[in-house]
Amino acid sequence: MSKRFAIIGAGMSGILAAIKLKQRGIEDFTIYEKASRLGGTWRDNTYPGLSCDVPSHVYAYSFELKGDWTRRFSPGAEIQRYFEGVAEKYGIERHIRYNSEITRAEHVDGRWRLRTSSRATDTVDFVIAATGVLHHPAMPDIPGLADFKGPKFHSARWGHAVPIHGKRVGIIGTGSTAIQIVPALADRVAKLSLFQRTAQWVLPLANPFYSAEEKAMFRESPERLQQSYDFWSQRFVDTFARAVIGNQDELQKIEDACRLNLEENVHDPELRWRLTPNYRAACKRLIMSDEFYPALQKPNVELVTEGIDRIEATGVRTKDGALHVLDVLVLATGFDGHAFLRPMEVLGEGGRTLAEAWSEANEAYRSVAVPGFPNFFMLVGPNSPIGNFSVIMISELQIDYILQLVDLVLEGRCRAVAPSAAAARRFNDALHEAMKGTVWVSGCRSWYLDRNGNPALWPWSFDRFRAEMQKPDLADFDLASAATTQV
Ligand code: NAP
Repeated sequence: MSKRFAIIGAGMSGILAAIKLKQRGIEDFTIYEKASRLGGTWRDNTYPGLSCDVPSHVYAYSFELKGDWTRRFSPGAEIQRYFEGVAEKYGIERHIRYNSEITRAEHVDGRWRLRTSSRATDTVDFVIAATGVLHHPAMPDIPGLADFKGPKFHSARWGHAVPIHGKRVGIIGTGSTAIQIVPALADRVAKLSLFQRTAQWVLPLANPFYSAEEKAMFRESPERLQQSYDFWSQRFVDTFARAVIGNQDELQKIEDACRLNLEENVHDPELRWRLTPNYRAACKRLIMSDEFYPALQKPNVELVTEGIDRIEATGVRTKDGALHVLDVLVLATGFDGHAFLRPMEVLGEGGRTLAEAWSEANEAYRSVAVPGFPNFFMLVGPNSPIGNFSVIMISELQIDYILQLVDLVLEGRCRAVAPSAAAARRFNDALHEAMKGTVWVSGCRSWYLDRNGNPALWPWSFDRFRAEMQKPDLADFDLASAATTQV
């Protein structure tokens, strides 16, 4: 009997999973997408200045490199168009069921019974959850937030209908998002107030346009495009990825480059001091921009470092008693990066819920599967190396790994596959031990850390990740017990 698949989410990794299924001749699948468009984070985020700080030549599927990106780090809208184009090319669109959020997935008689927000149902043999990491906006718990009378919105829900020209705009937050918004707004608004709770390390990053000649060269020479992909991937692995997992030399180089950037490009010593972080570079996600400091020093832009006391009808009151009067308030306050799969209700073997399995922490086996949840897989699940490399490379390695497990079932070697509890325990114990050497736990607050203070990242090298994702170690999986489930 042919097997049926459900993919949850039509973002980068869901589209990837669909392409990989089709390449294996599997057509019996549906992608359930809660929104009315594909694209995931690139659909949700449309704020001014949005671009990807991973080089475009690496921020693409390895089998669909694109030679005519406009810039080294491309704007978000261009990336969104890329995913739409790829989905069209591979015939993915007809598999997507839009406006269909999966609210419940229950393992019944060896299959997965799914229910959507509109109460539609489906029963499938395999679930591939490609629900993303940064898609639940985190609203700040600042008193009086509801009292603000002007328009206010989260950066991932940009209010394009709200006029900002000539307005007084406040931005709360200084993460990667806010740092991209500030230069994009500075020349358009009457006044920009940036509310900084914690200073950031900022690595200068030039973003040149590709010339017509360069684009033609990359279009016409797949070899040159591949070389560029290999070059940027290796650069990540050799520098940034090493630094964050404990290579002190690389970390020092990053810190020195950030410090030099601050010294050379922020002229007022008092402002420089307020922008100087008091923790190690890359402890939070490193900020990359050569536009942020110049924008911050424009006469109509102010950096507010007094803590926020409360929000009032007309603006933000800081702890020194000053009222910063605003017409528009932007909350660039990030996301809940630990809400994997939520609020979906997932019931595995014996009716045990994922919420129960994860009551202490989000723990998976190699980020892709959870004991007791047979034939249920995740892309970019807990402890994927998202802080270190392009998330597309990660997803490609993960889907190839997952499909090797799926093959065990398709080839009749077992009826279901799930990691053993012992293997998952070993993996997570090793993770926690290795986290001790990483910069993420060196003393800062960041979305990387879960409620127990453990980073939701990968503490080892990329080479190790790639090696471990090559082939599942079947000794770590419950194939025998899974084979007893009924199909
Ligand atoms: P973020 O890095 O989590 O930053 C949130 C900001 O809001 C922080 O500065 C935080 O201050 C501040 N904040 C939160 N609650 C606050 C409160 N109650 N009062 C005052 N300040 C508050 O969020 P993000 O900038 O949206 O970025 C999230 C992630 O998205 C990034 O780390 C990155 O992975 C991804 N991203 C990627 C790109 C890209 O180009 N590839 C671009 C944008 C985003 P503290 O620092 O003090 O906590």
